[in-house]
Amino acid sequence: MSSPKAKLTFWGVRGSTPTVDPATWRYGGNTPCLEFIAPDGTQFILDCGTGLRMLGNRWATTPEKRAPEAHIFVTHYHWDHIQGIPFFAPLYSEKNRFHFYSFRSKFLGRDSLKQVFETQMAYPYFPVDLSAMSAARKFSEVSDGDNFEINDTKITARWLNHPQGCLGFRLETSAGTIVYATDNEPGVPKLDRSLCELAAGADVFINDAQFSPEQLAASRKGWGHSSWLDGVKIAKEVGVRNLVLFHHDPDSTDRLVDGVLRQARGDFEAVYAASEGMAMTLGEQKVDVILPGARSTLRREAHFRARVAGFTENGHAFQEETIISDLSLQGALIYLSHSPRLQSELQVTMETPGNDVNGDGAMRLRGYVVRTEPGPERNQTAVGVVFTE
Ligand SMILES: [Zn+2]
Ligand SMILES: [Zn+2]
Repeated sequence: MSSPKAKLTFWGVRGSTPTVDPATWRYGGNTPCLEFIAPDGTQFILDCGTGLRMLGNRWATTPEKRAPEAHIFVTHYHWDHIQGIPFFAPLYSEKNRFHFYSFRSKFLGRDSLKQVFETQMAYPYFPVDLSAMSAARKFSEVSDGDNFEINDTKITARWLNHPQGCLGFRLETSAGTIVYATDNEPGVPKLDRSLCELAAGADVFINDAQFSPEQLAASRKGWGHSSWLDGVKIAKEVGVRNLVLFHHDPDSTDRLVDGVLRQARGDFEAVYAASEGMAMTLGEQKVDVILPGARSTLRREAHFRARVAGFTENGHAFQEETIISDLSLQGALIYLSHSPRLQSELQVTMETPGNDVNGDGAMRLRGYVVRTEPGPERNQTAVGVVFTE
């Protein structure tokens, strides 16, 4: 029997408001939405930001693979965590069943999330009436410290420090444990301790990293968010295996997030920056990460000599020469004898007509590793690169 596997997919990773600015495309502009499929096939959705629309579209293309039921956890009621709900196509199909979980807001009272649904779709904010949502919907209230099971997954909820409240969730399965803690500002000792308990020993800890440590100390104090440094501190303290920096600020460009990731990696080994389309598979005591590749119709066969410099998974600098034979405007597939680290930077120096790789006219590109897999030959790695400069 094969060992159990669970899969976590990121459909929205941006905080506060969606972004469409091209400088944010690589990490993505949709607001929080994660999908988690437990080893027993139970489907979970964490938050209903604008990424939920994309998830819904994907579901529609694979209905035969889907159970008609999903469990949806909403951390809180700020726009960026609920705005995908009216655009989630599976809610308009009567064969689907959704079970929503969130907390009772002291501003809304009973059935808070149900009220949020109704308000969001009320006249004149949305053209379609709530009655068009024909999927079966059930709402459950979750409170701080709650522990319960959904099929074979054990859920724990803990209160976070965020204006008007927010819940963090821990989902434990036979393949591994994920902890989702976004929209949290450290600094309240009781809640800080509680988050450490929630995150203890997690295989994947997804943590708010909206601001820089400097911003948090100065102008963004009290806004309800964290920095990469807070996630790293918790990860080190409670033995988290992989940290994912999440809820990127809408003003953070891809280059800025790259810089944040580099800093965090200087301090903690296993850190990733959440990226739209990123998937993590948990099982067999390890976590595999897959990033969305640069799939381009413009890609074509080529034959360029190139020199490639970067960092291996162990953080060692390497440089080697290779032939690039699969190239597009956005990226390339490069075969290397080294295995560079995912989400690390590669310097690619390519020959151009009349200029070899050492010539002044050689093309110098900076890329970002989105995929590594075994190459066609032994001891070879096929490396997917997206060019950033
Ligand atoms: Zn948020
Ligand atoms: Zn919020």
